Amino acid sequence: MKRIYFVFACLVLLGAVTPAHAQLRVVTTSTDLASIAKEVGGNRVTVESLTSGNTDLHYVQARPDYILKLNRADMFVQVGLELEVGWVPLLLNQSRNPKIHRGSPGYCAAYNGIELLEKPTGEITRQMGDIHPYGNPHYWPDPVNGILIAKNIKNSLMKIDPVGKDVYEKNFVLFKNAAMKKTRELITLMAPHRGKEVVVYHTEFVYLLRRFGLVQGMTIEELPGVAPSPAHARKVVDYIKARNVLLVLVSPWSNVEYSRRIAEKSGAKLLVLPIQTGSTPETQTYLDMIDVSVRTLHKALSK
Ligand SMILES: [Zn+2]
Repeated sequence: MKRIYFVFACLVLLGAVTPAHAQLRVVTTSTDLASIAKEVGGNRVTVESLTSGNTDLHYVQARPDYILKLNRADMFVQVGLELEVGWVPLLLNQSRNPKIHRGSPGYCAAYNGIELLEKPTGEITRQMGDIHPYGNPHYWPDPVNGILIAKNIKNSLMKIDPVGKDVYEKNFVLFKNAAMKKTRELITLMAPHRGKEVVVYHTEFVYLLRRFGLVQGMTIEELPGVAPSPAHARKVVDYIKARNVLLVLVSPWSNVEYSRRIAEKSGAKLLVLPIQTGSTPETQTYLDMIDVSVRTLHKALSK
């Protein structure tokens, strides 16, 4: 009997017997990335998002427990394009975990292959605003981009866990099919609104709007991350009135009160739309978040 235990212990040490707790630890910056990573990784991974839904990912207060989580992670996924530049580089540095540093197999930039909108041309200067220097980083509210995010996560998981290749491939195809089905259904729902214009506070809905046939008109922010001047605010009000724009769209973590004033002055309706997984009880998965967001937009535009 003793010999059997000894052999078993040796096998565990050699990795031939996988103990139940040997799931890969995946840490993401956002709930959306976490939800997609769970879909792809299935029971081979445990996934944790550093932030909860309803977070302005541009501005996150780093906490000591984030460093601990990153220190223990096998894989790290971030939105990238400098969305999290204010807090992630420092945390990665302090994590003392070379497995997840940029360039390592355990580091996953979720934007690979995504067609970026609002990409600046020419030299990047501060005149273009404080944020979004490489193009608009709010790409996840488009479910077709969700598929590309899943593909990037799948590729990273296969690199660090080749044994799970078939599981990751299968889970990816299931997610892709579900996302395509949802996209087609919502495109049909939104067909009556095709071409309608929406004014936004921060340009964080543009990928969602474009996928479902809507147009981002003027932004209340003068430039990404730059609060509007009174002159700019007047221009936005005139723009809404002149073009009969129905909606002013803002996220809960953005400048809701300012947006409300613009809506009131111009006669448009204000819609506060949380485009993050887990921001409400109805949006606990990524595809539920997409579904609820688009249906909410549809309802607001129908009245
Ligand atoms: Zn932004």
